[in-house]
Amino acid sequence: MTQEILETPEMLAVGDIENGTVLDHITPGMAVRLLKLLGLVQHHGSVTVGMRLPSASMGSKDVIKVEGWQMPADAVGRIAVFAPTTTVCCVQNYRVSSKKRVSLPEHISGVLVCPNRSCISNHGSTESRFQVRTHRKKIRLQCCYCEKAFLHDEIAQYSL
Ligand SMILES: [Zn+2]
Repeated sequence: MTQEILETPEMLAVGDIENGTVLDHITPGMAVRLLKLLGLVQHHGSVTVGMRLPSASMGSKDVIKVEGWQMPADAVGRIAVFAPTTTVCCVQNYRVSSKKRVSLPEHISGVLVCPNRSCISNHGSTESRFQVRTHRKKIRLQCCYCEKAFLHDEIAQYSL
């Protein structure tokens, strides 16, 4: 669910992380949602959050730095749905040891809520499941149960 980034990584201000993970280039305003999604609100190590910081490539961006934490592999796709431009940097001994951009999964289960109130995934114990596609640079999600399609923005406001 990740792809190597080949271009030269831009400088990161990671001096305050010894060993851990930096989530960089997060869609502005999405940092709080990612903290919840990743369970980092309960993390015992230090967590630094920057919101709407200046970015050469994006105009503005959010950044999360987490000491003593590695990104679980199954979380990458979920992050991509909310903040597709996010890069995941592993830091060891104050240096970035790897840097990868998240990539969208083909399907996402259990994280999002179907906006269709009569959808079976909103009743009983059925876990939500969506097929993920991009259309004209927008993320489009199709519910695997009611088959209705939604733009990412429509679904995000119902979820988490
Ligand atoms: Zn549905």
